[in-house]
Amino acid sequence: MRFIRRNLALLVFLALSSATMLAAYFYFSPVSGVAEVVAAGSSAETLSAKFVKPVPAKPVVGRVAQSPGPVRVGIIAGHKGNDSGAVCADGLTEAEVVENIAARVVSALQTRGVAVDLLAEFDPRLDGYVGTALVSIHADSCDYFNEQATGFKIAGSGYTDSSALSICAEDAYRQATQLSFHANTVTLDMTDYQAFRRIAVGVPAIIIEVGFLNLDRELLTRQPDRVAGGIVDGLWCYLDQIRSGVSNASSAAVPPGGG
Ligand SMILES: [Zn+2]
Repeated sequence: MRFIRRNLALLVFLALSSATMLAAYFYFSPVSGVAEVVAAGSSAETLSAKFVKPVPAKPVVGRVAQSPGPVRVGIIAGHKGNDSGAVCADGLTEAEVVENIAARVVSALQTRGVAVDLLAEFDPRLDGYVGTALVSIHADSCDYFNEQATGFKIAGSGYTDSSALSICAEDAYRQATQLSFHANTVTLDMTDYQAFRRIAVGVPAIIIEVGFLNLDRELLTRQPDRVAGGIVDGLWCYLDQIRSGVSNASSAAVPPGGG
């Protein structure tokens, strides 16, 4: 009792403050269940319609490169490891002509410090291949059709937007070789090329028919460095765009058929 009497003031203060806090707590606490009722009511009526408003899918274009990663290029030597491709009367094959060119492309790129994978036509590494770009090198028939059967063709993948790479390759190759672009004979074999289906989505890829083995034979067999130089220049033009952020390999990824 002496303890209580001596500390009466303190005890009264404690009792009063406790009561005040409890009162404040109960005054501001919502009646149980109110929150649930509010949530149920609003989602059923006012808000639900706004949540399902359709927003059209918008392709990502021109996004600034964040981390493009190390540059790595895949070069397919057409028909390598599988068949000879087109064959000339004297035995010259498409496979040997384009392998010679592909080897020069690879060493020229390596000289410029680019990591390169030299790939066979049905190379197992093509499955899910990830790189900055892929170029498959082929050549056209050795049969004589007419005087128009000369020139090169380029087709880009239908699975990943490869237009920037195609444009670079076309300009550079025309300039280096003075061949004309044979656009009207681009076939489904080129646009739906097997490697395009196998590599990772988002990797720009083109197939180039470097010329006709018949009328362009001189150029393809006697000046392979000039031919390879055209391909290297085209790739370099594209890699420059990647480096400067004009093109971005990863933002080029679109669903199949979308680009
Ligand atoms: Zn071929």
